[in-house]
Amino acid sequence: MGGVLPLLVVTVAVTGGLLWLREAASEQLDHVAQIISVAGGRPPLPADAGLSRLVAAPLPPAGADGYSLLLTNTRGVAAYDPCRPLHLVVSFEAAPPTAQRILDDAIAMVSPAAGLRLVVDGATDELAAEERQPMDRARYGNRWSPALVAWTTPERVPTLDGSIAGMGGSVAVADRSERLHNVSGIVHLDGPELTRISGQRGGHELAVAVVAHELLHLIGLDHSEDPAQLMFAENSGQTRLGDGDRRGLAALANVPCRREF
Ligand SMILES: [Zn+2]
Repeated sequence: MGGVLPLLVVTVAVTGGLLWLREAASEQLDHVAQIISVAGGRPPLPADAGLSRLVAAPLPPAGADGYSLLLTNTRGVAAYDPCRPLHLVVSFEAAPPTAQRILDDAIAMVSPAAGLRLVVDGATDELAAEERQPMDRARYGNRWSPALVAWTTPERVPTLDGSIAGMGGSVAVADRSERLHNVSGIVHLDGPELTRISGQRGGHELAVAVVAHELLHLIGLDHSEDPAQLMFAENSGQTRLGDGDRRGLAALANVPCRREF
């Protein structure tokens, strides 16, 4: 970039996942949105950004609705580029013994339904934090920070206190025509709670469902009002994607390759 750096308006939409294994007493407000400005240029197009999708676009199930999108404007929805991998790094600070398998199974559930290739780059020494830089050149080089999947604790991330077992969300930037592009994000997971859950009978599937729910927030889905969907705010045993979840993911997948960011 030249001497004048563009001002990028970055919107962070973070939504928490509520894990209520029994009857929910009440619904908790779990949406946070903030707008930050980044003055410092933008990274070059990554070498693995292609001109065609990496995973076939999912077909939405017949019917309508059952989902809600996290971040939209008049130009459409904030979504990830389907023509490049969505890179994840993992903080194992407070991970369950089966963390790898839980994340792999959640990715296997989400990836084909989202039409996105999620790639785990490996472990990071970055820890979960309430604020995160969308670019961290010292740690990740001249690129958008890979999405951080952090097995962490309520002590480090107070939002995870109580019934909230996870948080997920992404950072979007607006291009010159005001279209929104997700470029980075976070999934914060309550490690001690998910260690307890995953150790129970049938608990692996529940832990996978929590991580998948947060990955869907990362990708761009908000909560559904339909209890049959994985994106319902209160998990009462739902462990599979519902048709509404799949319709929402198909809507998010229906975007062209992104070349500006
Ligand atoms: Zn949620």
